[in-house]
Order: sequence, then C-alpha cells, then structure tokens
Amino acid sequence: MGSITLQQVRKTFGDVEVIPGVDLQINDGEFVVFVGPSGCGKSTLLRLIAGLEDVTSGRIVIDGQDMTQAAPARRKLAMVFQSYALYPHMSVRKNIAFPLKMAGMAADEQERRVQHAAGILNLTDYLDRRPGQLSGGQRQRVAIGRAIVREPSAFLFDEPLSNLDAALRVNMRVEISELHKKLATTMVYVTHDQVEAMTMADKIVVLRAGRVEQVGSPLELYRKPANRFVAGFIGSPN
Ligand code: ADP
Ligand code: MG
Repeated sequence: MGSITLQQVRKTFGDVEVIPGVDLQINDGEFVVFVGPSGCGKSTLLRLIAGLEDVTSGRIVIDGQDMTQAAPARRKLAMVFQSYALYPHMSVRKNIAFPLKMAGMAADEQERRVQHAAGILNLTDYLDRRPGQLSGGQRQRVAIGRAIVREPSAFLFDEPLSNLDAALRVNMRVEISELHKKLATTMVYVTHDQVEAMTMADKIVVLRAGRVEQVGSPLELYRKPANRFVAGFIGSPN
C-alpha cells in the first residue's frame, strides 16, 4: 500500500500550462520530497495526486488502481496543510475525529483511533483543549493526528512547517521523520526549503517550472546534480 505512479500528468489553468507532463514513481513507504522555487507547481502536483484538482491529461495510479478520475475520498490519501485548518471552537479530540465523524464511523471506533493517534503524537493530555490553547507545534500535530486517524495509504504534506518559527521548524522536521519511521507509510512532502529536503527525504524530486529536473536520493543529487539549476538549488559544490 502507498505506491503512487504519475504517467504524463499535465495540468493547464486556462491557457497557462503549469505542469507540462510529469512521469514519476513513488514507492510504498518512501519519504518523497518535492522541492523547487515558489510557483514551480509543487502544490499543484500534490493537489493533482490528492484529487483536489483534475488532471488536464495523463494518468494517476495509486496502489495499482487507476485513480485519475476518482474523488479525493476514494484515493485513501490524507493531506496536511500549512494552515492546519483546525476548527477553533472544537476540542482537539473533536478536531482529530472530524473526518471519521463525517464518514459516519461509530463513536467507540472514533475514540479508539483518536487515542492511538494522540499517543503517537504526545497529545493525550491535550484532547480536551481547544486549538487556541495550544502551541504552534501542538496545533501542527493535531493537524497530523487528523490525517493519521484516517489510516491513509499515504500522507501528503504541503509546506506544513512554513508558519512555524525557525527553532520549532527544526523540531517538527525531526518529529515528522520519526513519525515516518513509526508508521512506515508513504509520505509526499512539499517544500521550497532545501535543508528540509536534504535532511528528510529518501527521494527528492526537484521541480522547475512544472518539470522534473532530477529525481534521486539527497546524496545522489549532492554528488551528481543533473544540471546547474539542481546544483544551485540544493547547494552542491559541483
Ligand atoms: P508552488 O506550490 O510550487 O509555489 P503552485 O503549484 O501553487 O506552485 O503554482 C504553480 C503555478 O500555477 C503558479 O504560476 C500559480 O500562479 C499557478 N496556479 C496555481 N493554482 C492556480 C489556479 N487555481 N488558477 C490559475 N493558476 C494557478
Ligand atoms: Mg505551494
């Protein structure tokens, strides 16, 4: 579970071609980072995978099934946004359980999953608080908890740390990497931050103007950048 294949995925908004045609293989359990400058199409590509945007052409295959036309809920992917999108008037427990409630899950199963996610994220003591009573890092964990309870086959993160201050960002990087080790679930992580990409990724996908410039491990990209753009972007001396 958790493999994602893009075949000639193309996206235009009106006359503007944002993604000219991307081929990409994401394997089960990998931590894959999409990195590139602002406006290069990272969020668009993630939203296409999530089904929040329709492809203009091409195919998206998830766990061996063609999901190109599938509604987001059928794709079994959980998206974590940079803005957290928490409900301020609801408790942490209700925020985390929200997608389960919407899916009509039985209350005791909701509670079981919330407790499980809270345990993983060290939020057990905070379940009765409101988001406004939490730190930025805790709020981010609540947003991740809401994704965990859905037991997705992959997590999709869109610049989840960009609203946090520098010190907290470093902590959360480590936390998300540890979460990946614990869950062993595919994670696709979007960032414009080279350091995040180099420290977190199993596989980095360098994007420029909607095109894949290079795919490889941090070490491969550092040692053998495909071109000057990649070298400059990831800070390789080559
Ligand atoms: P990134 O996440 O890498 O900063 P985006 O995927 O948000 O980049 O955007 C890529 C390009 O697509 C940008 O030029 C942006 O203006 C454009 N774009 C994104 N979403 C839309 C939309 N809904 N309508 C029109 N243009 C869009
Ligand atoms: Mg973006």
